[in-house]
Amino acid sequence: MATTKVGVSPMKVAQVPKPGADFQVVEREIPKPGAGEMRIKVQACGVCHSDVFTKEGWWPGIQYPRVPGHEVVGLVDELGPGVSGWTVGQRTGVGWHGGHDGTCLQCRRGDFGNCQNMKIPGISYDGGYQQYMVAPVEALTSIPEGLTDVEAAPLLCAGITTYNALRHSGAMPGDLVAVLGVGGLGHLGIQFANKFGYRVVAIGRGAESGPLTKKLGAHVYIDNKVTNAAEALQKLGGAKVILATAPSSKAMSEVIDGLGPNGKLMVVGVEAKPIEVTPVQLVTGSRTIQGWAAGLPADAEDTLRFSELSGVRAMIETYPLEKAAEAYARMMSGNAQFRVVLTM
Ligand SMILES: [Zn+2]
Ligand SMILES: [Zn+2]
Repeated sequence: MATTKVGVSPMKVAQVPKPGADFQVVEREIPKPGAGEMRIKVQACGVCHSDVFTKEGWWPGIQYPRVPGHEVVGLVDELGPGVSGWTVGQRTGVGWHGGHDGTCLQCRRGDFGNCQNMKIPGISYDGGYQQYMVAPVEALTSIPEGLTDVEAAPLLCAGITTYNALRHSGAMPGDLVAVLGVGGLGHLGIQFANKFGYRVVAIGRGAESGPLTKKLGAHVYIDNKVTNAAEALQKLGGAKVILATAPSSKAMSEVIDGLGPNGKLMVVGVEAKPIEVTPVQLVTGSRTIQGWAAGLPADAEDTLRFSELSGVRAMIETYPLEKAAEAYARMMSGNAQFRVVLTM
């Protein structure tokens, strides 16, 4: 028997109905882009650990229901009023930097990444766990031809974070650079570090990560379950930079003594506990600790083009949008190899 459906909404979204609640896959009307915005037909969206802010309500001021997702790749679908420079059908993406006001003190200094009203997709507005999304035009990145949608997605957060942190770390080709943690961020950090011409040390937990890190481009693997990583780094001459990707303040604290003179601990992995360091550890050898957050859309384009050119790729597990809950659980389990991407 034929059924008549009235007012069927034409797109699927995976939303978090309220803080801590399970994902719901629901239908919604396709959103209309406003002034200064574009609509994207989403093709792929990475599932990032930072989606936990939306899932659990750990970011202040989130309005629910909210659609997470800040590793979005798709096609320009409609330009809002006043938007130029893009054509319908062109590939585009949005990462963690989801827009800036252009008028606050930081923006007037040109420091858009520290905009006082910076927007984040999936937090400030609905992100990429849906078939169509709307984003401010200043947040958009173009996607080079040599990368598939799925390949490009994780590079828009995990990729840009490690690429941009390393290229601003002060390390020069030939320097000893350690990557702490072999996970979603770390497996990309090792590849970038190798392509940047560093002497690359991967630090992981357990012997089983060793062969993989060598394949990704590490010259030395330190298993910090059985080896004191700080001592091992000193034996190699001391690290110029340690890119701390593991979300473990304890692990970060333990490797600080592995820094050489003028060495820097570059922090990109995040947890709530404090990093422990004594003034003596910092003053001896003029060491520094610096944090780094992703980057701007132009940095994302650099990341994508560099990856296209150099062959850096995330290792990816894909799930259909309908299985967003499963995909998110897989990412949270820490067992994914290594990035999880939703396809629409
Ligand atoms: Zn992210
Ligand atoms: Zn601003």
